[in-house]
Amino acid sequence: MFDTLSDRLTSALQNLRGKGKLTDADIDATAREIRIALLEADVALPVVREFIAQIKQRAKGAEVSGALNPAQQVIKIVNEELVAILGGETRRLNLAKNPPTVIMLAGLQGSGKTTLAGKLALWLKKQGHAPLLVACDLQRPNAVTQLQVVGERAGVPTFAPEPGNGVGDPVDVARRGIEEAKHAQHDVMIVDTAGRLGVDEELMRQAANIRDAVRPDETLFVVDAMIGQDAVNTAEAFRDGVGFSGVVLTKLDGDARGGAALSVRQVTGQPILFASNGEKLEDFDTFHPDRMASRILG
Ligand code: GDP
Repeated sequence: MFDTLSDRLTSALQNLRGKGKLTDADIDATAREIRIALLEADVALPVVREFIAQIKQRAKGAEVSGALNPAQQVIKIVNEELVAILGGETRRLNLAKNPPTVIMLAGLQGSGKTTLAGKLALWLKKQGHAPLLVACDLQRPNAVTQLQVVGERAGVPTFAPEPGNGVGDPVDVARRGIEEAKHAQHDVMIVDTAGRLGVDEELMRQAANIRDAVRPDETLFVVDAMIGQDAVNTAEAFRDGVGFSGVVLTKLDGDARGGAALSVRQVTGQPILFASNGEKLEDFDTFHPDRMASRILG
């Protein structure tokens, strides 16, 4: 994960080591290398610009402190700025005061939504919650079955339209899902919605209708980290069409270049809540900006 970016950043900073005093030219040269590393990692241009401007300003204005040599000081600044663009503080899941908490998942087909539904359900269950999966992706023939399968793996029930009832209306399923959650005393319900291969208006309308029917406490935009900067365009379309309160990055175990992770928070203004890094249901955790920054800096 982020291997190239890590290597490039490390080598950019390596050049500063051993220097007793940093000139503005040293800082500019390092900033240039960091800029190239970020652009190659497919980070969105406005994010790169802002990042580099911050690094330069802070590094040039840094007081020489006793404890850190100049190179260490720049590394510290880069680390802090990485944490900042990744969201700063860890953002916890927002749980409703009056259960059930409603979590709606939105994103493109193949982004890992269904898998995430299972992962999130298992994660919540381990924390003592009693989640219910609600199958509102009625577009793809296999989607309901696939959700039921991940539900079984997680040991969590799935509410789905009865077989033989035709395709069904996802908004109706969502509404009945809430009734079911209350009736069977589930304190969290996770609503899987349809995803298309590309952003399309009908998908957005359907997701917005489901949103209006269930009034989610969290709408999580699920995005495949491997798609790099394209994630930003998709995120903007979902933000404008449905709105979301948080982001989940999936497939961080692949050879993601880092662009999506580093851009999505800044561009959408919404925090990354979770990271998904594998096909197993356990490959999932809360997203910690500080830990991610440390991993990127190696
Ligand atoms: P959906 O269409 O958005 O519901 O996506 P799926 O949950 O069906 O996932 C699409 C594919 O990505 C499946 O083959 C999943 O096994 C795989 N997948 C999902 N999450 C991850 C992940 O974090 N890492 C990896 N390597 N594969 C994943």
